[in-house]
Amino acid sequence: MSYYCPMKLTCWGAARTVTGSKHLLSTDKGKNILLDCGMFQGEGKDTLLLNDTWGFDPKTIDYVILSHAHIDHTGLLPKLVKDGFDGKIYATAGTIDLCGIMLLDSARIQESDIKYINKRKAKKNQPLVEPIYDEEDAKKTLSNMVEIPLNSSFTIDDEVTVSTYENGHILGSVALFLQLTKQDQSVITLTFTGDIGRKDDAILNSPLPFPQSDYIICESTYGDRLHEPQDDVEPHLMRIVMETCVEKRGKIMIPAFSIDRTQEIIYALDRLAFAGKLPKIDVYVDSPLSVKATRVMSKHREYFNKDILEYITKDGDPFGFPNLHYVESAEESKKINTMKTPCVIISASGMAEAGRIKHHLKNNIENPNNTVLLVGYASPRSLAGRIKAGDPEVMIFGEPYKVNAKVESMENFSAHGDYKEMLEYLACQNASAVKKLFLVHGEYNTQLAWAEKLKFAGFNHIEIPIKGEEFIL
Ligand SMILES: [Zn+2]
Repeated sequence: MSYYCPMKLTCWGAARTVTGSKHLLSTDKGKNILLDCGMFQGEGKDTLLLNDTWGFDPKTIDYVILSHAHIDHTGLLPKLVKDGFDGKIYATAGTIDLCGIMLLDSARIQESDIKYINKRKAKKNQPLVEPIYDEEDAKKTLSNMVEIPLNSSFTIDDEVTVSTYENGHILGSVALFLQLTKQDQSVITLTFTGDIGRKDDAILNSPLPFPQSDYIICESTYGDRLHEPQDDVEPHLMRIVMETCVEKRGKIMIPAFSIDRTQEIIYALDRLAFAGKLPKIDVYVDSPLSVKATRVMSKHREYFNKDILEYITKDGDPFGFPNLHYVESAEESKKINTMKTPCVIISASGMAEAGRIKHHLKNNIENPNNTVLLVGYASPRSLAGRIKAGDPEVMIFGEPYKVNAKVESMENFSAHGDYKEMLEYLACQNASAVKKLFLVHGEYNTQLAWAEKLKFAGFNHIEIPIKGEEFIL
């Protein structure tokens, strides 16, 4: 006797929070397709546990389709493989190239963070902990990746055809439009927006419209906010450089995501240097991943918009100017720590939860001549989020530090569209024909405000899934 099993969607991450993106689609023939496999980041003391519990059996996943390479969308793939998944991982060429450096880096960061934590635990006679996965797991994951074409369709099997639509978030990022054929041969369509970029991104092409969909899984990061206008970037950056590095002879520390954000800041500083405005201070890109990501970006000019392509005809290299130093080795990085001269340090990770930026903050955050410049989204529970919220004291590597440095923030470097830009992006849809719009990837209060705006735009059936909540499609 066989039972009819309807098609279902379950969000196992980025559900009422911004990280851990992981959406499980179970077809009516029993196939399990995972859209993204992100790591939870900056969820406070729950982070480790969240990353250790799937909610489903990795061995039952048939394949994974990725929207883009950010770690909160791909970072648990090596653990999925370690825990028994052996299917294919479909992604665009840009995403595969970026995953090639990011997943290995993620494995190394965890291994080194765990070493540091274990050293301290050993001193206190506490039990030691293990990294979630290692470099070998990451390498095995990369060998399972299969390229899908950009802005084009790809038939995976008799149940699933996926079409990708560039969405301007980071290099290689796309919205995924799925045509799902049911047992009775009827077809339902579902779009996963991934993270929605901006129409006027400094480097990338603008997001493309996607076909009418029965179901949409839509991100919500900036569902309740508007960004500063883009053309304020250079004067704003100049003011901070002049105040911190010239007047106070201090350092500027910029926690930045290695991909896109870092290159946007470098490109803005490059434009200032090319125009002869930037004072002669050293600028360090201190993150092996950011250095490698900049190389990958330089290679993939097919994703560049016409403005940067035109700038390249004048300047040659948009990511290179005098006094800009790309730092890969740990020794060089440590030297920056002891330097007394004014400088700009751009380092990962963006939420300051991992990587070398934690060391730079630890060494410089108590000095009032310095500035911490926050340039993107930071979850409220992350280190960058707590600095942004104005906490007078923050914990770094388990020790308290006074926040005496000036805290500045520039939202306009965001790789996410604000609510107006996201509404414009969704205007390609006949809202009343969308059977259900699922809001993911946002803080719950933001999602409630975003839902109101979407209802006003005509989307009548909105769900804000709880982690593990099951929806019949
Ligand atoms: Zn992203």
